[in-house]
Amino acid sequence: MRFGFDIDDTLLNLREHAFRTYNAKLNLQVDIEVFHALTCIPIHEAFGLTADEGREMWNTHRDEIYYSAPPFADAVEVLQELERRGHEVYYVTARKAEYCERTKEALIKAGFPVANERFYCGMDDLDKVHIIRELELDYYFDDKPKVLETLSELKAVTYVKDNAYNRHMDMPRIVGWQELLDLLQEDNC
Ligand SMILES: [Mg+2]
Repeated sequence: MRFGFDIDDTLLNLREHAFRTYNAKLNLQVDIEVFHALTCIPIHEAFGLTADEGREMWNTHRDEIYYSAPPFADAVEVLQELERRGHEVYYVTARKAEYCERTKEALIKAGFPVANERFYCGMDDLDKVHIIRELELDYYFDDKPKVLETLSELKAVTYVKDNAYNRHMDMPRIVGWQELLDLLQEDNC
């Protein structure tokens, strides 16, 4: 089977890592509960920043955040297990082209199984659907409503990686990565 994964906030806990980084850089202690209650993807409002200030904050610290964001619990182990079982693991990320190489290196360093020919990076969010179709993925996982809303016509079984900003979406959902192995057991994969 072919499994495709978005990276940010699907495999890597990027926003929470950014939230903690902003707290440190701004010398603030905004409670993590504020983060968990956010129902939109941008996090700058939790720090009292305007959209422009938030953009500047992100641009200043993006590299540090991108390459040090930790994987969600069990993500590395579950993807390794997929490969061990003979499945193909694909990555489909809309991080911009200039970040692709270091993103791949950071995934490998974190322990993810990454094959060069299965790493797709640098497309727009709305172009993911075409890549997923061309790759003939059997399963695809993403967190972002804007992407997920474009995938309903695909034959790939699409899961949303649970987050406060996507709970309005009525579709198969993964909260913790161990659940994926349980699902496969049900499907005899
Ligand atoms: Mg994402």
